[in-house]
Amino acid sequence: MMSKRNTKYIFITGGVVSSLGKGIAAASLGLLLKCRGLKVTLQKLDPYINVDPGTMNPFQHGEVFVLDDGAETDLDLGHYERFIDVNLNQNANVTSGQVYEAVISRERRGDYLGATVQVIPHITDEIKNRIRKAAENDNQIDVVITEIGGTVGDIESLPFLEAIRQMGLERADNDTLYIHLTLVPYIESAGELKTKPTQHSVKELREIGISPNILVCRTGRPLTKAAKDKIALFCNVPPEAVIQDLDAETIYEVPILFHGELLDNLVVHYLELLCKDLDLSFWRKIVNRIKNPKHYVKIAICGKYVDLKDAYKSIIESFIHAGGENDTRVEIKWISSEQVKTEGAAVLFDDVDGVLVPGGFGERGIEGKIEAVRHLRENKIPFLGICLGMQCATVEFARNVCGLKKAHSFEFDRETAHPVIHLMDEQKKVTEMGGTMRLGAYPCIIEKGSLAHRIYGNTQISERHRHRYELNNDYRENLVEKGLILSGLSPDRLLVEIVELKDHPFFIASQFHPELKSRPARAHPLFREFVKAALKYRQSRTEPTEAGEVYVSHTSGSKDTV
Ligand code: GLN
Repeated sequence: MMSKRNTKYIFITGGVVSSLGKGIAAASLGLLLKCRGLKVTLQKLDPYINVDPGTMNPFQHGEVFVLDDGAETDLDLGHYERFIDVNLNQNANVTSGQVYEAVISRERRGDYLGATVQVIPHITDEIKNRIRKAAENDNQIDVVITEIGGTVGDIESLPFLEAIRQMGLERADNDTLYIHLTLVPYIESAGELKTKPTQHSVKELREIGISPNILVCRTGRPLTKAAKDKIALFCNVPPEAVIQDLDAETIYEVPILFHGELLDNLVVHYLELLCKDLDLSFWRKIVNRIKNPKHYVKIAICGKYVDLKDAYKSIIESFIHAGGENDTRVEIKWISSEQVKTEGAAVLFDDVDGVLVPGGFGERGIEGKIEAVRHLRENKIPFLGICLGMQCATVEFARNVCGLKKAHSFEFDRETAHPVIHLMDEQKKVTEMGGTMRLGAYPCIIEKGSLAHRIYGNTQISERHRHRYELNNDYRENLVEKGLILSGLSPDRLLVEIVELKDHPFFIASQFHPELKSRPARAHPLFREFVKAALKYRQSRTEPTEAGEVYVSHTSGSKDTV
């Protein structure tokens, strides 16, 4: 057996304001260290009391990112997996809810008998155990990068900060590293970059006993030498440890920019890591094709949470990966499914080359989605349905092709005469909401000769799920007879995982979430082929002219230039 390596720990905190891109900074550093030949893993500590984000409204929290093992996690885990190209597990997302739940159930069992159970040391010990656990499954992890959610100064993140402070004390100096991400705003009226918020934020960290080694400064303008020197002096770090984090054209460029600031050199030096020189050439190629595409398509996302783009984070990223592989810029047109009922699918989809109907919960906007699918099916516009999107496609087909006018999903109509989407028996027994859906990776067998088969080039796949409802097997025969192809099934053939249509340029929908497995270097095949189909569809509708291109409308035959 190989001996266990001495794992090093990097802690990333955030200051001044939220949404500075701590997750992307952590993932970018992870990539740089990985490209130096180190074995890296990433972890997020979330200070809220929910056990996981699965029970939160997407408007509160954004997308719930599901891992292979079924863990429902923060969307930053999606960035981690995409940047360092690994499949993480439940250990990679720790919440206050999980920590308290574990400590309280131990207390009830009597494990602390005689003691008063307190934040320090019991809660902080549990947090430290979970940080160490991130490296536990793999003896060969060189570096764990732990991102602490929230902003320094929040009451709820204090136990996490105390735990990482203790870890620094308990380990050798070159074993832990603290990176603080702050904001250096440019004040227009003064014509100056302001360093004071960073100074205050670092002061706050130092008051609780953490002295950051590196400051990553988010800024819209390049940091001047004077600003860097000032931050260094007031925050007690060498000037080279003040790293500029400029707004980037694409998030995938951030590792390249960090490398330009010598961030990886600095980390390797502080942690005395033995590793090779950096080779980022494969990543530069990916970024280059994302930034300089030859073609263009417009794809609509027709969903319920379109006002909060974070609810569809992985879908947006999947389109960026798929666009890269098709040398195509994918512009997203956001359409609220409720709009379809008021404005009409024909008008809303007139200028798009494909439509994605994503996952979702709750009845609002459902008829708009079903109407959208009808329009796409009848007008032969490329369509990709995901989870609820597949359920809507099935309901639409049952209603308008099989003639089951009252068909619906049991989720939205408990009395429906035709519940073509219904609850499986094991779901009927479920009474608790948290962690009780069909979650995580499941195998799926693909029908030879289907569109899905052509797309995947494989008959056995594994994809991630997050849903309660399934296609009702009582309706299978009727649906198939009328032309719905059930091209992906669970290995026992009891669950329908993919449906598709023939005699349509591209009509396919999955019960699983393909967007959770797309990576910059490996676009998900469903997204890759969807963008390809959209491009083909667009090309069939554009006519080259001397001035450029003329786009022929779907319905009216009217023409507009693009
Ligand atoms: N609400 C549906 C279900 O629970 C779909 C879920 C989803 O789209 N993720 O089955």
